[in-house]
Amino acid sequence: STFIGASFGGIAELYAQIQKAVGATERVFELLDEKPEKINATQNHSVEKIKGNVTFKNVQFSYPSRPEIQVLKGVSFSANFGQKIAIVGPSGAGKSTISALLLRFYDIDGGQILIDDKNIYDYDLENLRGNLSIVPQDVILFGGTIRENIAYGKPNATDEEIFLAAQQANALDFVNGFPEKFETLVGERGIKLSGGQRQRIAIARALLKNPSILILDEATSSLDSESEKLVQEALETLMEGRTSIIIAHRLATIRNADQILVLSDGTITEQGTHDQLLSIEKGLYKNLSTLQFSGN
Ligand code: ATP
Repeated sequence: STFIGASFGGIAELYAQIQKAVGATERVFELLDEKPEKINATQNHSVEKIKGNVTFKNVQFSYPSRPEIQVLKGVSFSANFGQKIAIVGPSGAGKSTISALLLRFYDIDGGQILIDDKNIYDYDLENLRGNLSIVPQDVILFGGTIRENIAYGKPNATDEEIFLAAQQANALDFVNGFPEKFETLVGERGIKLSGGQRQRIAIARALLKNPSILILDEATSSLDSESEKLVQEALETLMEGRTSIIIAHRLATIRNADQILVLSDGTITEQGTHDQLLSIEKGLYKNLSTLQFSGN
């Protein structure tokens, strides 16, 4: 097929060709999406692709174990598909709770969460989660090979797909540095990877899953600057073309977000772009960015 013919021109050429081939395959799948019986023949389970518009309408929530404390007190925001939404705010404000609700770990007490104008509780759960990926602060890999850890979100992935995902996630160099490459064992009984390497494995996993919505819980602890750069670059690639909800700790991520939500004690107190929020005199964002983000 197309990319086998590209034996000249080196890895960049090959990469471009693979991308083209993958793009074509995706378009074929989009067409097939209308005929679910066919998609079952090529995938383990059919995931109906969502676009990724996310709306919170006056969402109220308390954890079932602590009903007396209202964690979200009427949160409203809207993210159009493809947008980057950063959520910032003090510890305990409810940032991670928003991502837990999107993943439908809990039922809300009031308001609505809509994805593509459909209530999230009306989705088939497997289908909903099939369209979502999360890259957590501290990535824990399961015991197994690097290949298995990357392929987790798409068990029937081909070698080429795994290779491409690792490459786009800036993980290929360190993976190839191990004698057993993709067959290297990680986790408790295997090789110990650095925080940045584990994050890049998680990014490769998410790239392979190709979700419409990405939840990114940025690490607070800083990586060394080389690893930081590689992770940041990989994240930019991952965020392209999907709705990203970022629990943000880094100025770099926040600065180019389409919208920043400032969450404080369960309420959105400020909302806008970086420049808009900086112009609010005595605003919480302005305050946070001088205190928390200085030196980053
Ligand atoms: P941080 O920046 O420190 O991660 P956050 O803004 O993400 O904080 P959340 O983790 O969403 O805050 O927590 C919001 C509130 O809900 C806090 O008061 C917290 O103690 C409480 N909370 C979080 N998880 C649970 C849980 N599983 N059960 C009960 N209460 C919880």
